[in-house]
Amino acid sequence: MPDAPIVVTGASRGIGAAIAAELARRGHTVACLARTLQMPDTTGLDAAAEARLIPHSCDVTNVEEVRSVLAEVAGDAGRLGGLVNNAGIHDDGRSESLDTDVIDRVFDVNFKGPFVMAREAFPYLKENGSAVIVNIGSFFDKLGVPRNVPYCASKAAVAAMTRCLAAEWARHGIRVVNVAPGYIVTEMNRDFLTGERGRAMLEARVPLKRAGAVDEVARLVACLVTEDVPYLTGETIYLDGGHALTV
Ligand code: NDP
Repeated sequence: MPDAPIVVTGASRGIGAAIAAELARRGHTVACLARTLQMPDTTGLDAAAEARLIPHSCDVTNVEEVRSVLAEVAGDAGRLGGLVNNAGIHDDGRSESLDTDVIDRVFDVNFKGPFVMAREAFPYLKENGSAVIVNIGSFFDKLGVPRNVPYCASKAAVAAMTRCLAAEWARHGIRVVNVAPGYIVTEMNRDFLTGERGRAMLEARVPLKRAGAVDEVARLVACLVTEDVPYLTGETIYLDGGHALTV
């Protein structure tokens, strides 16, 4: 029986694209979800691995779209091998004047999206007999970051959801793990993290004195998804060069 597909949300760019590519490189068929229908960067992949990446357009805040994409990906076998809830957005603002719309928008994508994805994927993950959900949180989940109530709270909620689902679904063969990255260089923050101010901040605050790379997150997630650590569930793993230890 071929391995069941793995779903990665937010796989059109950044961390999600690197996770999708790494899973394909390791032989998995990967459904790459994002609102934009776009293949992840396939640099360095051979043609067979590239063919295992299947892009789908899906907004994780739209329950109907989520249902229909998951049914299509699970196919006739009705199975999924794993789910990586990576899609996320960041927004901030001074709390004394923060519009609650910002909280709604951030929670819709960062918390409700992963919950709906997990809930709708549940029957297919269960059918597989053994499956893993990896949520992508953030090391901001345990920090007090000025102007960041919506983002920090949404990622703390993801860590809490991880613990609850892990306890609830272990009996169905589903493990749930939260990977909480520190500063990871993506298109969004490259200018800052590689500029003078960013480099000084990393030097001062991160024990390993640098930002992380997307493929470092991808390799950890691929290990977790491919059952290399079968006794692990419910935990948050901080992949931040030690940053959260020092603040
Ligand atoms: P990017 O902004 O580079 O990529 C976000 C991805 O999510 C894109 O593929 C985007 O595609 C997709 N996306 C956004 N909204 C939705 C939606 N509603 N439905 C489906 N897909 C959506 O982000 P990063 O790669 O930097 O971050 C990925 C994850 O890692 C996020 O959860 C983020 O919070 C977390 N993280 C990132 C850190 C960093 O330093 N980069 C640090 C800690 C955590 P599209 O716009 O086409 O939908």
